[in-house]
Amino acid sequence: MDWKKNDIFQVTIEDMSDDGAGIGKSDGYIWFIKDAVIGDKVEARVMKTKKSYGFARLEKVLEPSPARTEPLCPVARQCGGCQLQAMSYEEQLKFKENKVYNNLVRIGRLEGLWRAEGEEAQSGAETAAGEEAQARAVFLPIMGMEDPWRYRNKAQFPFGVDKEGNVVTGFYAGRTHVIIPQEDCLLGVEENREILRTIRDFMDRFHIQPYDEAQHRGLVRHALIRKGFATGELMVCLVINGHALPRQEELVESLRKIEGMTSISLSVNTERTNVIMGKEIIPVFGPGYITDFIGNVKYQISPLSFYQVNPAQTEKLYSTALEYAGLTGNEVVWDLYCGIGTISLFLAQKARKVFGVEIVPQAIDDARRNAEINGIENVEFFVGRAEEVLPEQYEKNRIYADVIVVDPPRKGCDEKCLDTIVEMGPERVVYVSCDSATLARDVRVLCDRGYEVKKVRCCDMFFATVHVECVVLMSRAEK
Ligand code: SAH
Repeated sequence: MDWKKNDIFQVTIEDMSDDGAGIGKSDGYIWFIKDAVIGDKVEARVMKTKKSYGFARLEKVLEPSPARTEPLCPVARQCGGCQLQAMSYEEQLKFKENKVYNNLVRIGRLEGLWRAEGEEAQSGAETAAGEEAQARAVFLPIMGMEDPWRYRNKAQFPFGVDKEGNVVTGFYAGRTHVIIPQEDCLLGVEENREILRTIRDFMDRFHIQPYDEAQHRGLVRHALIRKGFATGELMVCLVINGHALPRQEELVESLRKIEGMTSISLSVNTERTNVIMGKEIIPVFGPGYITDFIGNVKYQISPLSFYQVNPAQTEKLYSTALEYAGLTGNEVVWDLYCGIGTISLFLAQKARKVFGVEIVPQAIDDARRNAEINGIENVEFFVGRAEEVLPEQYEKNRIYADVIVVDPPRKGCDEKCLDTIVEMGPERVVYVSCDSATLARDVRVLCDRGYEVKKVRCCDMFFATVHVECVVLMSRAEK
């Protein structure tokens, strides 16, 4: 069949792509249809065609899948933030589990990976029923969110103008910089609404222009808003294309009235760039940071700090990493890609000594300060690349590790880093991953060189998106 743009056709959705599009087939030709859900029968419009596959737009759901649900957000389809709002949460979790499982089997070639379900899963496969699992690698059920809405503690809203010239803020549409007006994202905190309204009113009142990307003119680029879920503290950082905000005291006066407002600052970003935050931060109110807790560890978060956006699930994820590390109090642990030391400080409570390695110097400043405010003294942090610091320390100081934890960015671990881990030969490696394809690749490397996968567990940190986190426990195989 020769498909032309705008042709209308019907198809049944049989699968989902990794980026959350529905997949259907007609005469062996494969269609990717955004917003369609597995099990739907849909009418779609041809957008773009390649030799063996094409992209189509969802026009009408003819027969809804049992997995389909009505998105709560009015702009769920236009907004680039969510990909899976039309899918029931149960189905989303299944989708995420399958994605990780399939990658581990396909790319990681973990043939014996056993999916624990029901009671066996509940007990973490530690009971008699799980004996089989002792010998085999077990894939435990995903840890889902108790309340999937309003989970994000951070949002970055771009500012612009609509056709009538009014100041608007919201989210970018997928793959573009068109602003979809929306001040109450249902994944974010309710306070966002009042904060954004306050900023918009202020801009209207004093004729302060939003930034125009095309012309590189105007002042207000983005508002970064963060909330400490455990403390209720709020932070606002206004990113501006300039070095000062006219009538700033008026804005501070109104923002301060919002309950919980703790820190207000400006971020200077005068570059033509997609990068949201500028490097210079000008504090205008409060201490320049907010405080939050994950478990019983306290963190100070400044505008440029990396901090997990879903604190409730982060606690579950890191507790799992801690459990898998199997610490008794005597171990030396290396935490590679440690960021602001979130996992390191968790581990330090149960280990003899923890060493953290991270490439971003400011993150290490945060990590050291966080250790200090918690009175944690058995941690030491290194600035540098994991693949350089670890071999260097190993060759120079013959460092040793009982357990190595890694939490790399999407591209996974560097080869040199994996080589050094193998040479050091820790009893256990705990791999925390946000990309199951590179996880599977790295797990294969370690499996080929003396390690065995014991447990795998996913954790959903990002409801309605296709992203999923995962923790893998690997042990050194007995010789
Ligand atoms: N475990 C941390 C964050 C992990 S995100 C936490 O929970 O807070 C991955 C981190 O790896 C980022 O902080 C990033 O800056 C860092 N990173 C990226 N490449 C690196 C490298 N080659 N060596 C060390 N750290 C790296």
